Amino acid sequence: MSEVRTEGQVNRTDIKSLTLQELVGEMDRRGEKSFRAKQIYQWIHAKLAEDFDEMTNLPRELRERLKEEYDYTVLRPLRVQESKLDGTKKFLFALPDQNVVESVWMRYKHGNSVCISSQVGCRMGCRFCASTLDGLERNLLPSEMLEQVYAITRLTKERVSNVVVMGIGEPMDNYDNLLKFIRMLTDGNGLNISQRNITVSTCGIVPCMRRLAGEKLQITLALSLHAATDEKRKKLMPIARRYSIGELMEACRYYFDSTGRRITFEYSLVGGENDTDEDAAKLAALAAPLCCHVNLIPVNPIKERDYVQSEGARIRAFKNILEKNKINVTIRREMGRDIDGACGQLRRRELEAVAAGAPVWEE
Ligand code: SAH
Repeated sequence: MSEVRTEGQVNRTDIKSLTLQELVGEMDRRGEKSFRAKQIYQWIHAKLAEDFDEMTNLPRELRERLKEEYDYTVLRPLRVQESKLDGTKKFLFALPDQNVVESVWMRYKHGNSVCISSQVGCRMGCRFCASTLDGLERNLLPSEMLEQVYAITRLTKERVSNVVVMGIGEPMDNYDNLLKFIRMLTDGNGLNISQRNITVSTCGIVPCMRRLAGEKLQITLALSLHAATDEKRKKLMPIARRYSIGELMEACRYYFDSTGRRITFEYSLVGGENDTDEDAAKLAALAAPLCCHVNLIPVNPIKERDYVQSEGARIRAFKNILEKNKINVTIRREMGRDIDGACGQLRRRELEAVAAGAPVWEE
């Protein structure tokens, strides 16, 4: 089951976090016909209703009782920034408890993609990342992850075909809610997004990667590697003190063997830290025995740290070495460069502004 709401809130069931099967159970318990469950589920997850009043094929008394007994989670857009370069939109959403998270909408040739947050804040402590600077506030509920996709669909009036869990938070640190989210997002009675169009990115929590392999999902697993030796990785990512690169590679192999899905290695290039020819050769050696794809990301500098992007020529040289070793590699296109790229920066700026006494953004 999903976590209950945080303190201070009335402890009502969060209806948007219930699977169809759970909703059938709820309707049975209250003596309603079970087809009501399917109707309600479709209103919530396919028609993306914003409240119970929209569910016009339910008897009014039932709607009233639902209103009394359940929480209906919707996210409120506090701020939307649109890139003039490529149309990418960044959304800052208020959660029911007034915490905020950010999500990104990107238009690609193959369809629209949404990058969602999985936690409010993060406790992983990666050195270059803005989302983790203030630690973890709380996990997101399945409904709050789904609502990022639903609210963006309502606001853009366009179908979302791809979802990447690469926003604020470490998805494997919120495993049960993440799994429920994936199952509901891909449910035929909901948005019915293909599992193959979902990517979950992790800093590398080995037992969770192995557990995910056992779920036999067709999603893509992306590993944030960022260094090719334990020594260098420990400097960038505290989680590297817990799990070695050797253990990570074994877990990746296991994931591929269990699911047949190619792994993605994410590698943020940080000038002078992990971008030498030797780093590239070591990365190639790690990648070669695995069925994987390497995605190079020029690091997005944050003002709290003095990391810098690698020079363009260095990035190309790094990529060449991988290619010479027959590694499948791409450089991530920087979407929305003009609207505050790095993960967690929009949320952070908002919190700083509020702390400094600025008015909360108008809608
Ligand atoms: N916690 C998960 C997912 C969220 S971060 C993970 O670690 O994978 C999504 C990706 O962006 C990760 O690869 C992360 O390391 C990377 N990232 C975070 N901040 C960045 C920055 N400032 N520049 C470049 N990449 C960054």
